[in-house]
Amino acid sequence: MIFTAPDTEVIPVTTPPLEWDSGMYREAVAQFDQVAAYMDLDANVAERLRTPQRSFLTTFPFRKDDGQVETVFGYRVKHVLTMGPTKGGLRYAPTVNLGEVTALAMNMTWKCSLVGLPYGGAKGGVRVAPELLSRAEKQRLTRRYTSEIFTFIGPQSDIPAPDLGTDSQVMAWIMDTYSQQVGHPVPGVVTGKPVELGGTSVREESTGLGLAYLLPLALEMVDLPTKGTRVAIQGFGQVGKSVARAVTALGARVVAVSDLSGGIYRPDGIDIPALHQWTARNVWVNSFPEADPIDGDRLFEVDCEVLVPAAVQEVIHAGNAADITAAVVLEGANSPTTMEGDRILQKRGVLVIPDILANAGGVTVSYFEWLQGLQFYFWTNEETRQRLRDIMTKAFLSIKELAAKEQVDMRTAALIMGISRVAKAKLMRGLFP
Ligand code: GLU
Repeated sequence: MIFTAPDTEVIPVTTPPLEWDSGMYREAVAQFDQVAAYMDLDANVAERLRTPQRSFLTTFPFRKDDGQVETVFGYRVKHVLTMGPTKGGLRYAPTVNLGEVTALAMNMTWKCSLVGLPYGGAKGGVRVAPELLSRAEKQRLTRRYTSEIFTFIGPQSDIPAPDLGTDSQVMAWIMDTYSQQVGHPVPGVVTGKPVELGGTSVREESTGLGLAYLLPLALEMVDLPTKGTRVAIQGFGQVGKSVARAVTALGARVVAVSDLSGGIYRPDGIDIPALHQWTARNVWVNSFPEADPIDGDRLFEVDCEVLVPAAVQEVIHAGNAADITAAVVLEGANSPTTMEGDRILQKRGVLVIPDILANAGGVTVSYFEWLQGLQFYFWTNEETRQRLRDIMTKAFLSIKELAAKEQVDMRTAALIMGISRVAKAKLMRGLFP
């Protein structure tokens, strides 16, 4: 008997949007596609790298101090599981979404790859305003989030670390919650822990140190000395504070700093230790008495040689890139420059040291901490700093060389280096089954 299919109504197929869709995700993919086309990347590998391998989305409740229950969204995304565990920060911010976390996880993949760490990229987040939480609320939220992602993280699978709105205390709560579940202490499940729990005291300053190690190398590319160079820093959180301290130690002058409260400016250099003391007491930089107040947005225009965006994403864009006076932009934050902003900076001849290279000091010291956690053998701070410097310098010089060879900018060269290593690893492992 010949089977004939009954007439069925044809339902028009519309392609649903990608689950990860968001402005930041599109930018990350567009940037990847641009470089993949330039590299003539294998089309199958390119397709696999455009989306994350695993994404975890949860909604969960936590109790507020007044007895009310609030439900929040939590995310953890693993972009590439090819070369080792996944690695990346955890952010608490009111605007976090799956697309943002995914874009940042992709960034982590290229970052780890270009400095030679055996990780794929990951990122996590909880959509919450951390400054509105008490310590007890933050602890309950963190422990519940950890319990939600318990099967998704682990020292051999995925290792969170601090990012926007989280710190060493949050990492300690994650480590404790995880360890309670498995029945023994597991220091390797997070990095950026307090020193008493196997953290390294260099971790807090590591991103700033990494940026500072690259500063003289970047300035040399534009024939400027480090001594006396004027630096403007947007953001005075962990990265902003540590880079301010580290570049001052090199003899550069921090002339402007801004945070959510506004900005401050002092042409002959802000007294950075005094500003640290001020923010330890008053939190915000505004009304620091030994500098002139400026509008936060004006920071991008102040007269300086080096601009360090060290806060959030997409702060340099089509609307302000033309006003930047700096010769060098050293990206401390993740994705601080939009593609349009980047094009304008390139056209104007501004040297941009991209985030995936410039701020890789953080994850590099995380890697050191993870290794030490697995081995229960701890290095001195001197050893940690020296190894960080070696890794950052080597990555910078090889990207500079590649940029010169390919006649491309530093961001494109960094992406080529990051992507090609991952692509090779994927091709070598082949497909299962
Ligand atoms: N959050 C940092 C970054 O974006 C560090 C990640 C880590 O140490 O795993 O690079």
